[in-house]
Amino acid sequence: MTAAFDYHRPASVDEALSLIQQNEDAKLLAGGHSLLPAMKLRLSTPGALVDIGRLEELQYIRDGGDHIALGAGTTHHAIESSDLMAEKAPLLAQTAAVIGDPQVRNKGTIGGSLAHADPAADYPAAILATEAQIVVRGSDGERVIDAADYFIDLFLTSLGPDEIITEVRVPVQGANTGSCYLKFHNPASRFAVVGVAAQVTVENGTCSRVRIGITGAANAAFRDSGVERALQGQAASADTIAAAAANAAQGQELLGDTFAGEDYRRHLCRVYTGRALTQASGG
Ligand code: FAD
Repeated sequence: MTAAFDYHRPASVDEALSLIQQNEDAKLLAGGHSLLPAMKLRLSTPGALVDIGRLEELQYIRDGGDHIALGAGTTHHAIESSDLMAEKAPLLAQTAAVIGDPQVRNKGTIGGSLAHADPAADYPAAILATEAQIVVRGSDGERVIDAADYFIDLFLTSLGPDEIITEVRVPVQGANTGSCYLKFHNPASRFAVVGVAAQVTVENGTCSRVRIGITGAANAAFRDSGVERALQGQAASADTIAAAAANAAQGQELLGDTFAGEDYRRHLCRVYTGRALTQASGG
């Protein structure tokens, strides 16, 4: 079955916006590493592609003072290899480094990954744990979406159909804070069967702030507030971490598929939460 489409290469984000607003069945094309496989399988048959993959306007990593600003077109490789990211937002850099393989990391972009919202994608866990913000532009101008309000369901986010993600703002990791992203990956695709991002602040031996984001396990990535509450205010020790991690994914409806049943995913959530917390807290 052929599936013809028009191809546009806009020179700016504004031009891209007007193209997707004029063409109801147009789709943005960034790195193409999620959209093109879906088109080849005819799971997606857009009438037009609006190629933003070469817009330099969307490719940057900037120090914004209290946050690092990432242009939506920044590749996974640029994020994993950035000194600024390693120093100020290491959780995102560490996450980018374990996405797919070098080919995927050289082409895939953070904006494309967040827009696609694959339930097994890696970034969502780190985006939630760092409490990042997603900046989008549409016909009503710009709006900023908190990570907690962004991921809604399977391949569903709060991004509107005629909106473009332009930037991701990642808060600078604070003093006395460690972070870690670990995943149990699918051996073929390397997507996360379960991935856990942890950020822990330890002051005078006590976990004063704990953030956990889990991806791969459910329809959409989620913050695990049960684990966070269980560890916050407790001593950073192997026992308190084990007790907190035992709560992982409690009350969450989890996915079950050929790679891992629901019970096994729940087990992985507990194990990887314990390991990520241990590393993030310096243990
Ligand atoms: P595209 O494929 O170009 O676009 C994806 C979707 O996002 C499209 O609907 C497009 O219209 C939309 N879009 C793109 N940019 C924007 C924007 N700025 N604003 C609004 N909408 C936009 N991911 C992981 O997280 N972990 C893995 O281990 C992993 N392994 C992979 C292995 C393979 C073999 C492949 C092919 C992919 C893998 N991926 C993995 C997915 C990869 O990270 C993709 O690059 C990413 O999900 C999509 O980014 P992209 O730039 O390629 O987007």
